[in-house]
Amino acid sequence: MKRKVLIGGAWPYANYLLHIGHLAALLPGDIIARYYRKCGDEVIYVSGSDMHGTPITQRAKKENKTPFEIANFYHNEDVNTFNLYNFSYDLYINTESEIHKENVKRIVKLLNDNGYIYEKEELQDYCENCNCFLSDREIVGTCPHCGGKCDGDQCDSCLSSLETSEVLDKHCKTCGNPSSLKSNKHLYFKLSNFQGDIQKLVEERKNKWRRQAVGETNKFLEMGLIDRAITRQLNWGVEVPIEGYEDKRIYVWFEAVLGYLTACEEVCSQKGINFEEFITDKDLTSYYVHGKDNIPFHTVIYPSLLLAMKKNYNLPNKIICSGYINMNNEKMSKSKGNLMTANEMVNTYGADSVRYYLIANGPEKKDINFSLDDYITIHNKFLVGVLGNFVNRNLSFIKKKFDSVIKEGKIDSNIVELTRKTYESVSQMIEAGELRSAIETIMEYVTSGNKYYDENEPWNLAKNNIDKFNDVTYTCIYMMANIANLIEPFMPDTSNKLCEILKTSNKTFEEITISGDILINELPLLFNRIEQ
Ligand SMILES: [Zn+2]
Ligand SMILES: [Zn+2]
Repeated sequence: MKRKVLIGGAWPYANYLLHIGHLAALLPGDIIARYYRKCGDEVIYVSGSDMHGTPITQRAKKENKTPFEIANFYHNEDVNTFNLYNFSYDLYINTESEIHKENVKRIVKLLNDNGYIYEKEELQDYCENCNCFLSDREIVGTCPHCGGKCDGDQCDSCLSSLETSEVLDKHCKTCGNPSSLKSNKHLYFKLSNFQGDIQKLVEERKNKWRRQAVGETNKFLEMGLIDRAITRQLNWGVEVPIEGYEDKRIYVWFEAVLGYLTACEEVCSQKGINFEEFITDKDLTSYYVHGKDNIPFHTVIYPSLLLAMKKNYNLPNKIICSGYINMNNEKMSKSKGNLMTANEMVNTYGADSVRYYLIANGPEKKDINFSLDDYITIHNKFLVGVLGNFVNRNLSFIKKKFDSVIKEGKIDSNIVELTRKTYESVSQMIEAGELRSAIETIMEYVTSGNKYYDENEPWNLAKNNIDKFNDVTYTCIYMMANIANLIEPFMPDTSNKLCEILKTSNKTFEEITISGDILINELPLLFNRIEQ
């Protein structure tokens, strides 16, 4: 029976170029999606760009552009990056799309009808000169800790993060006028209602979510859930579908996570799947794939919103969160100038090399330190030295000595057994989100191929035992066909190349069998050695 699988990749904020840290956090989603598709399951893999919020409006103001121009530029850049890395989203949209905005408005009304939204009046900073309320980022003032100049939410002198209410001598950032306090109303979501439900959820899922997700969620719950404002004083974002809120927009924390539902529903309608049936199916498995800073949004806030909808929608089954990538022992940041963008990497080294590195050595369980030297060493050692070598030594010998024809031989039964076992273990690991172990298991399989080759010395057999030579070589080709298939979720380009050489398929996740004589196609080098 076809399994139903929903994979949600985190929504990048459309205000910067993706760097390899972002990519490392999102890549597991593509591997899991490709794997389940090969198993013949019903897969919906979605994501999109988060286009709203104050950082984008602030930047637009500074650069004399519209917020849409800024967000749309980065949205297009991100789409391009994902294409370069062969991400296989069924749909990648953005939060400015009409379908998303309509969906969010519908959900706000539903939550309001269900009694989870209420109005609250509070005093907010106001500029009489500009005639508008000021968000924390539109305020400058004096830091209560160090006495230096600070923003409404943080002090760059002493690096404290600040509550706007504690900032002294507040002024409007735009015109410099002193700010005053004025009563303003906002809509709040009753997040505090869901403390018990989320505690129950994390208890149920503690063996399915990554360990860090369970830990972070419990920390968040220990602080106690508090109600959160869902509206912001802003003119960029999803309009509030409730009267009296025309000057405000929905807060991004609320609407961006709902993008999973928007995009999933859209894919369902494209594929002719009943969305309500899909998303409420007890046998649906959902994966949410993101960096560790996004954990509470996916384990607390999003499930609370789903529960508040009272529609029995699937709650996250698996949380695939990743740590950070540090650069030469420092946190990557634009200001330090030590960012390695995802595009720089893919243009220099190719998609599969980077994909391999980020899974085999990436921040699956903890933060990692990236250095170009390590990267090159790993590429040369495993992709050139192990995988490339196994393919190349076999095929170039056959090309040179036997005109590219491989005679049918008997496949070694131990190797067949090892192959089947490899599929089984790799399946279990991918489904559990243990991708590093999965790729390691595949590389061990390739290594045993190299060992088999060395032990049997086919270069000698070719001279004195041609039947045995054919058996050994045919076994190696069988392994290669299965390597091509096993690596497809991780390194799709290399997999396709190898399949083309051998004329085999990589469409299902099961043992590939071969029969008859095989004429191999022209042999391109799979990986080039990189000079240090
Ligand atoms: Zn002002
Ligand atoms: Zn300070």
